[in-house]
Amino acid sequence: MKPLLEVKDLKKHYPIKKGLFGKQVGAVKAVDGVSFSIQPGETLGIVGESGCGKSTTGRTILRLIEPTAGEVLFDGQDIRKLPPDEMRKFRTNMQIVFQDPYASLDPRWTVQRTLEEPLRTHLKLLSEAEIKDRIAELMSVVGLAPYHASRFPHEFSGGQRQRIGIARALALRPKFVVCDEPVSALDVSIQAQVLNLMQDLQSQFSLTYMFISHDLSVVKFICDRVGVMYLGRMVEMAPTAEMFAEPLHPYTKALMSAVPVPDPEAARERIVLTGDVPNPQSPPTGCTFHTRCPYVMDSCRQAVPEWREVSPGRHVACHLFEQ
Ligand code: SF4
Repeated sequence: MKPLLEVKDLKKHYPIKKGLFGKQVGAVKAVDGVSFSIQPGETLGIVGESGCGKSTTGRTILRLIEPTAGEVLFDGQDIRKLPPDEMRKFRTNMQIVFQDPYASLDPRWTVQRTLEEPLRTHLKLLSEAEIKDRIAELMSVVGLAPYHASRFPHEFSGGQRQRIGIARALALRPKFVVCDEPVSALDVSIQAQVLNLMQDLQSQFSLTYMFISHDLSVVKFICDRVGVMYLGRMVEMAPTAEMFAEPLHPYTKALMSAVPVPDPEAARERIVLTGDVPNPQSPPTGCTFHTRCPYVMDSCRQAVPEWREVSPGRHVACHLFEQ
């Protein structure tokens, strides 16, 4: 099947400038050569510690942040090459659900106005009756009553606010949604309800998700495949079940060893990483994980490991898999 989204060697570097004339003295490589694809209807999880570049990757794909280099092909079309007016039209295909629904909703706007805004901006030909119908439909699909539309964000619980955020993302009937930590601000009891809703909506509207999270239990529940990022690079990608059964990259092994399992007998030995995540302004040479890796070898300090397919559908970037 043809992928819905193909990301090729995507980079987002932020210049570090110094001095009176703002001379560039370096760059923070927030995303540094990331490549992957997502099939229609799939949910790809992206995990990693905070600052690893997962949110920047999501926003760069949507061109909410302009990439420094690389290609983003959506349905075969390179969206980096679209001029601004074409990009504005194209945005209806790609939407985002943010982590903090309270911060992402305008507190002065009713739900009605929040949901109307994208419809009026992008679908100018809709009549008033059609807009009204579309809003009623959106409220109903996310499990809110139509009379809620006249309320303001502060009148809702956290879970309800995230439902409004999801309704806003779906207003333009997108094909692809970046879900940026969509449940991490919610109580655990509410998280499952919102995740179930997102799964229902995915099958109802044939959605493709990129699901960004630091919570591996959530990713295990909702994602078909998982990619692991460290300091702006993808270090491993695999189908979820395979990744959780047998993580390959040393960093993934450490992350997975911290996931609680119901059967204590089946628990993995906990791998505690020493040292902090290095400063992204001056990342380590070679494999950027070498300063914390329990398996580090001489070659790791010198050469960047290649991103290679080690078995069908499994990619890893580590010198241990290059022999
Ligand atoms: Fe560890 Fe070397 Fe593999 Fe990096 S390349 S993860 S330092 S073994």
